[in-house]
Parts: sequence; C-alpha cells; structure tokens
Amino acid sequence: NIMISSRLARVEESATMKSSKRAKDLMSRGVDVINFTLGEPDFDTPKNIMDKTIEAMKAGETHYSPAVGLPALREAIAEKLRTENKIDTKASNVMVTPGAKQGIFEVMMTLIDEGDEVLLMDPSWVSYDACIQMAGGKTVWVPTDPENKYQPLHDLSKYVTSKTKMIVVNTPCNPTGSVFDKSHLQEIADLANDHNLFVLSDEIYEKIIYDKKHISIASMDGMADRTITINGFSKAYAMTGWRLGYLNAPASVFPSLEKIQSHSISNVTTFVQYGGIEALTGPQDTVLNMQKEFKERRSVLVNGLLKLGLKCAMPDGAFYAYPDVGEFGPGARITDRLLDEAQVAVSPGIAFGESGKNNIRISYATSVDRIKEALIRMEKVFQ
Ligand code: PLP
Repeated sequence: NIMISSRLARVEESATMKSSKRAKDLMSRGVDVINFTLGEPDFDTPKNIMDKTIEAMKAGETHYSPAVGLPALREAIAEKLRTENKIDTKASNVMVTPGAKQGIFEVMMTLIDEGDEVLLMDPSWVSYDACIQMAGGKTVWVPTDPENKYQPLHDLSKYVTSKTKMIVVNTPCNPTGSVFDKSHLQEIADLANDHNLFVLSDEIYEKIIYDKKHISIASMDGMADRTITINGFSKAYAMTGWRLGYLNAPASVFPSLEKIQSHSISNVTTFVQYGGIEALTGPQDTVLNMQKEFKERRSVLVNGLLKLGLKCAMPDGAFYAYPDVGEFGPGARITDRLLDEAQVAVSPGIAFGESGKNNIRISYATSVDRIKEALIRMEKVFQ
C-alpha cells in the first residue's frame, strides 16, 4: 500500500501524452498514422554541434562540471542574451539547466510557497501548471483573446491578489503560436512592477518566429530584477534529446537556484555543454533554413484547414496551429475521430486549459507532403 506524496498526487497525467500514446500504439501495430502531436522539430541536430560534442567527449570532458554550468557556455549565453535579447545581464546570472523544462521546475520550487498564486494564461503549455502544483502553489488561469490571436487581455490586475507571486509569459506560445505584441508585454511589465510580481518568461520558441520580432520582457524597464528568462537548445537547434537549456535570473534568486541544482542534478552532462557553446557561437544557417521550412509548412497547413472550414488564426511563431473545431464537435471528440477515421493524430485543446475545449493543436513538425496527405484524409471528418 504505497502512499504517494500529496505533492504528486495532485498532478494529473498530461493529456497531450495520452493522445500521443494512443497514436504511438496504433503506429506500433503498423497503422500509417500521421503524427501531429509532437513538440519537437523533425530536423537533425546540426553536424557542427555534434562534432564539437564528440570532440569534447574524446578529449576527456566526461567529469563533473560546476553546478551552474561551464564558464565558457555561461559566457556565450550571457553574450547572446545581451546582444539578441537586449537583457542587461552577465555570466554570473546565467545557469545551464538540463532543458528548459527542468529550469521551469527549479524556478517554481525556488519561488513558490504553499498557497502562493501564479497567473497562467489559458491556454498554456501543460507543464507550467504541473510545476506550480508540485511546488504547492495555486494556478490562477487568466483568459487570452481568441479574437486577437490569443494575445493577453488588457486588464490582468483583476486577477491579482495579495497572494499573487508570479506571472508566466510564453511567447511565442505553445499551443497557440501567438507572439505577444510589445504593448501587451508592456502591460504585463507594468502589472509586475506595480504589484511586485516575478515573471517567468519562457522563450524556448524564440527562433521559430515568422513575420514578427521576438521581444524579451526582461529587457523592459524595471524588469531585469524580477524576471527569470528561460530558454534552451531543444527547438532552435533540434536538440530535444540532449537536455540542454538555461535560465537567466536576478542576483536575488540566483544562489537559491544554484542550491537546488547542486543538490539535485549536480550539473548538466559536461560534454553536452560543449555542444551548446558551438550552437551559440557557430554558424546559424541551419536555424534560418528551419525557419523557412516551418514557414512553408505553416502556410500549407493553415490554408488547408481554412479550406476545410475550420476557424484558424495564422500563428506568428512556434510550430503549432490551434484551430477552433467547435462547429464540428468538442475538441476531444474531434481528436478521437481524426485518429480513428483519418489516422491523423492531434492533441485536444482541453489539455492546455479550459478555454481549449473547442480547439485542437496540430504540430507541423512534419514534412509538407505529410501535411498535404493529412489534409486530404481530414476531409472525411470535416465534411
Ligand atoms: N517550454 C515550452 C513552451 C515547450 O513547449 C517545451 C517543450 O515542448 C519546453 C518548454 C521544454 O523544452 P526543453 O526540451 O528545453 O525542456
């Protein structure tokens, strides 16, 4: 009779995992499923990054490194954050983490106490809420505006109480592909400054952006001291399996983050960190090629969905389309029907928050040919 801790008992299994499990199950039985559930680029990690990593491993970089990361990688990240993101920072504020996800978990454990409230946009990526729950916090869902490409609402202050500690910002956004406008980010920055809130800014999809410009909220007035910026190599450099990410945190919280990391993971795999240095300082042409390819896929997919009669905003970033299928049935039901009747696997919008009950999320980390094939198959369901 095992008693699971209440910390974990309150966390639910991810509904995106459930739907991708069903898809994988069918695939393992030989069914030709077009899998649109994945949150990872289908490209290979660039060769220069692999080569430098193998070199480092062969050169004996197989021992412990500092808990916060190799000095040269922290320096390269700080330089990137200063020049590309206009964040006033230095290497001593940068911590290398085993993926952005672990960084988010560590930030919640560091800043959130039992009963603290965290504002989370509805819809949001699945793991923020789980991390808040594990830390003992309370998620306060705040709506976004589907009529305006899922931008944040203007008046967020009505969701703030004396217990509010943090607001989570994710732009470009998973699952909507929304890229927050500067004016909206400024409003969030004002809210954080007025109410003394921390901001967790997850910028993992920063490089997968189409016509807009990415803005880091930590670069705005008064925000460097209250923002923890999260980023990583998974999406920009197709390095999901490497488990390599980083965060930038103000000096007031950095030592606590260092503590949690040194007592849990010790350090990110040492030779993997050399791959990170090469990713940031080496040629960036693969990033541009990937952007071009994603842009083409986005247009084929979204135009196809519109032709099928779905309501779908053109996403400005990330590799997800988030159509409203309410006219045809609830998103969860359409998800099942697409898999059963068309062998197309998607994720139900409800996995990302209550507001998503009429949506499905389609990841276009899949070739143009497969997208075209899926659109033909989907016609059956959306007649
Ligand atoms: N943040 C968001 C919004 C994501 O969608 C994902 C992955 O799906 C992550 C973070 C996790 O990234 P990493 O592989 O660096 O842990």
